[in-house]
Amino acid sequence: MPQLPSPQSLPSLLPRARAAVAGLERAVLDALAVVLPVTCAGCGEPDRAVCDECRVALTPMPQLVERPGLSAWAALEYAGPVASAIGEFKDGGRTDAAPALALALRAAIARAVAAAPPGRALEVCTIPSAPSAYRTRGYAPVEVLLARCGIRSSKVLALARGRVDQAGLGAEARRANSAGGLVAVRALAGRRFLLVDDVLTTGSTLAEAARAIIAAGGSTGAFAVLAETPLRHGGHAAKSPETLRDFA
Ligand SMILES: [Zn+2]
Repeated sequence: MPQLPSPQSLPSLLPRARAAVAGLERAVLDALAVVLPVTCAGCGEPDRAVCDECRVALTPMPQLVERPGLSAWAALEYAGPVASAIGEFKDGGRTDAAPALALALRAAIARAVAAAPPGRALEVCTIPSAPSAYRTRGYAPVEVLLARCGIRSSKVLALARGRVDQAGLGAEARRANSAGGLVAVRALAGRRFLLVDDVLTTGSTLAEAARAIIAAGGSTGAFAVLAETPLRHGGHAAKSPETLRDFA
């Protein structure tokens, strides 16, 4: 079963790896921009996959955010160029935004691992995509980012039947809708998981994943997301970008 490096080793490796990877990626992306005209996935500026300004906006600043029943480490706030870059990466085919996003996700994962209560080794688990979403994109966005971080996830969750699309549902309806939306594909006794997703809004997706893992005898040690949509004006936008919207 895939396991993470120890909490002690992971954060200390990050700065050097990040600098090396960032330098190489910029060189490659800049070279590619000469051949294939690109625009910034964050702001639309020409000639760079992610321009310097948006790269700054994508600098991870992991925060512990609270949602009903869980606390998650979020690398970024889902707004402005961050929201554009994530949207373009997920639904615009802009896989060239993956390097910058993967660095952010990795920072959230490192914090989540470091802050996890002592216990069994953590396995990374993601939310499965609906087959239709996978067919449309040709890739599973969070898995692509994890692969760039050198992390392999444990495929222990699957979609249960009979879900409806989450988009357009309010927080309450969303919670009710996702109850039972995921199932574990095997017994998980003795296994502990770090749940990873792209965008955290109400938290109903991660809560449902945790419920499915616990129902199968496993446990959750930590949660990490690329970005969180801050709770404003007393509620989240009905059209949340949480992954569960893909469960069509
Ligand atoms: Zn930009």
